Amino acid sequence: MGMFDTIILSQPMLCECGKMEIKNFQVKCFDNLLFEYRIGDFVTSPFYTGVIEEDYYCNHCKKKVPIWIVVKNSLLYGVYDSLEKAEAESRTPLERMEIMDFYYPYFLKYHQLKGSRIALINSIKEYISYLEKTKENPEYRPRFSNFDFKGLDTIEALKMILEQGEGE
Ligand SMILES: [Zn+2]
Repeated sequence: MGMFDTIILSQPMLCECGKMEIKNFQVKCFDNLLFEYRIGDFVTSPFYTGVIEEDYYCNHCKKKVPIWIVVKNSLLYGVYDSLEKAEAESRTPLERMEIMDFYYPYFLKYHQLKGSRIALINSIKEYISYLEKTKENPEYRPRFSNFDFKGLDTIEALKMILEQGEGE
């Protein structure tokens, strides 16, 4: 069993037979670290810019069908069902505004992750403070809290914190 990377297509492509949707396919052209790539991702690849041929298996055609990947400045730019389309796309330089379009979802994701990391740290701090204060005074109840730790053991309290984190 080889280790491959996978390209996931947020907009599935149709096989040339028109009978099978390609939602993802495995590629061997990058570093084969079991990574999942989407269009707009930077790839860890020896290819700086260019067209790469890969293939996928179509259950309807019962064969491997070629597919072409365009990488520009190490950015996974697009996936095409013809070499001509891929080559034409690869010849146009990466525009500044295009880079912004690729970048923007990452910017949003970054802020979301930063926010949920801070929320998780604050929840753990809140629990530590609760444990310290109830050690001194078993009757202690926080005035403001996102959690009600009363009566919970450590495992239950941590599970509650994790559940809230996953909901964000
Ligand atoms: Zn097919």
